[in-house]
Amino acid sequence: MSQTVAIHPSIDRGIPPASAGFAGGTLVCKCTDRPVKVRVASQTAHNHACGCTKCWKPNGALFAMVAVAPRDKVTVTENADKLKIVDESATIQRHACTGCGVHMYGRIEKTGHPFHGLDFVHTELSPETGWSPPEFAAFVSSIIESGADPNNQSNVRARLRELHLEPYDCLSPPLMDYIATHIAKASGVLKS
Ligand SMILES: [Zn+2]
Ligand SMILES: [Zn+2]
Repeated sequence: MSQTVAIHPSIDRGIPPASAGFAGGTLVCKCTDRPVKVRVASQTAHNHACGCTKCWKPNGALFAMVAVAPRDKVTVTENADKLKIVDESATIQRHACTGCGVHMYGRIEKTGHPFHGLDFVHTELSPETGWSPPEFAAFVSSIIESGADPNNQSNVRARLRELHLEPYDCLSPPLMDYIATHIAKASGVLKS
């Protein structure tokens, strides 16, 4: 029964494992004319399915698939003029293509933020294989805010577990610990 729950096209199809020594690839937006291209010159980390309402999702998908890469490894190589920040006031500045709506990368400009220095990217936009596969599912309850049926949540969680993507309603425990440690060090509660 849980097999019938579509999580995300790339994830439902089965994600190949990360390739040893994988050094990155190029993300391409969905435009047929002058597509935006973004080079990610490294492997990604912390790839996950995200149920929040802000991350870009393919049409009809319940979840986004999003990972991080060091910001100095992320470069717009073609048609940068088509990019526009979705919401200037958001913590993550999501640079979207004005032609097709795809988010090409998300960047945090606040230097004190725990994730400053990491850009958020959707590796499904790259023709290369070998990217780090998703490891967990974040903000699972939030899919309801995008219109998912609250009564189907147990099926969604069962399907995520079947895919070995442990469902969480915030980020995973290691990432929540990472954020809290950063905040505790910044406030002086924790001596580094
Ligand atoms: Zn586009
Ligand atoms: Zn998200």
